[in-house]
Amino acid sequence: MTRCRPLSLPFVFILALLSPVSAAEYFVATDGSDNNPGTIEAPLATIQHAEILVEPGDTVFIRGGTYHIQPSQIARQWRIWAYVIHLRKSGKEGLPIRYFAYQNERPIFDFSAVKPEGHRVHAFAVEGSWLHFRGIEVVGVQVTMKGHTQSICFAHDGSHNILERLSMHDGQAIGIYTIHGKDNLFLNCDAYNNHDTVSENGRGGNVDGFGCHPIRGATGNVFRGCRAWHNSDDGFDCINASETVRFENCWAFRNGYSLEMKSLADGNGFKAGGYGTTPVNRLPRTIPSHIVQDCVAVRNKASGFYSNHHLTGSTWLNNTAYRNGVNFNMLNRLADNKTDVPGFDHMLKNNLSAGGRRTIVNIDEAKCTLENNSFLPDLKIRPEDFVDLENEDQLMLPRSADGNLPQITFLQLAPGSQLIDRGIPVDLPYSGKAPDLGAFESQPDEPAKP
Ligand code: CA
Ligand code: CA
Repeated sequence: MTRCRPLSLPFVFILALLSPVSAAEYFVATDGSDNNPGTIEAPLATIQHAEILVEPGDTVFIRGGTYHIQPSQIARQWRIWAYVIHLRKSGKEGLPIRYFAYQNERPIFDFSAVKPEGHRVHAFAVEGSWLHFRGIEVVGVQVTMKGHTQSICFAHDGSHNILERLSMHDGQAIGIYTIHGKDNLFLNCDAYNNHDTVSENGRGGNVDGFGCHPIRGATGNVFRGCRAWHNSDDGFDCINASETVRFENCWAFRNGYSLEMKSLADGNGFKAGGYGTTPVNRLPRTIPSHIVQDCVAVRNKASGFYSNHHLTGSTWLNNTAYRNGVNFNMLNRLADNKTDVPGFDHMLKNNLSAGGRRTIVNIDEAKCTLENNSFLPDLKIRPEDFVDLENEDQLMLPRSADGNLPQITFLQLAPGSQLIDRGIPVDLPYSGKAPDLGAFESQPDEPAKP
């Protein structure tokens, strides 16, 4: 008879380290109850309760349907803020806590009934780190205050988080607003039709699609594949940033306009920098240079790509601007944060400007690096350079199943366009002999589509 030798203690310890942590799954559903265990058969009612149960590595699956959030569900009211769904628990490196829409279902959180008098609404107040959100829709977030204020769909202060495929629309609030966190990825999110009609005479001057205003040390924030349209202020705004923000492959269009194209607030596509009236002694010690690449700005009321009186130049690569008030506005300011000057220290390469009343303004060419853009000197852009300049509404099409931006014909370069291979290599992928101008690289080897 053989006898098993007992495992030595160190060996057991190593086994425990190697064995996968048993990641739990919880379910939340519109017909759930927080007295339930949170299985798929007996789901919870709220994400707030799920957060009490989760540990690093766990996943909360949110079933489809509309969650009508009630004022009684506000997790915390503190001073002038109402944190409705307040998520403070963190995952760990390699063991994020996930809040995911279940499979292809579409959970919609409707905050239109949440109107706390005298409070700014933070619909999702996210303070935890190592979190991953995916596929959550937020609608109807309210503003209750008449003076200077703002409400926010995802008020985000965590680090190492991924906010993915979030859709924030038809409310009075900013989509995503992030200040304190570092190394966050905002991936394939949409913010649209957001307009604060209540505060400061209803102009909606604080409602950007995405606001990223990182404090010192909050490095590594990236927006990728996000869209912002019909927000009453700007599409993407990183005014008052102490660290670099990156925008990659994002689209901003019709910001500063209502659905009826009535003029609202600022209306810039990408507002990259600036400090408003911040006194010099409160400016960041090192002024960050922002990065905007492969982005598209269409028919924003003011500027498509805007340096916003920033105190240094930024990097603009392979962007397409079409029919904005001004397509590229590189306005900078001297270190006194008072004296506006033509843009300096900008790097602009492979950018494409078409159809705007003005292509590029406020730039000191001698103090910038300008290579292979469609302007300076101006190429004569012709309609025949594009497959399609008509179907602007394609920008609003639903995303593909994996969350990527929709495939569109609008603003794609036509075969034979003078803009194909007109760029220079800038460390972005390209096809053919050289990069094309603008954000849509043509695929010469692809067989013609029927
Ligand atoms: Ca703004
Ligand atoms: Ca090319």
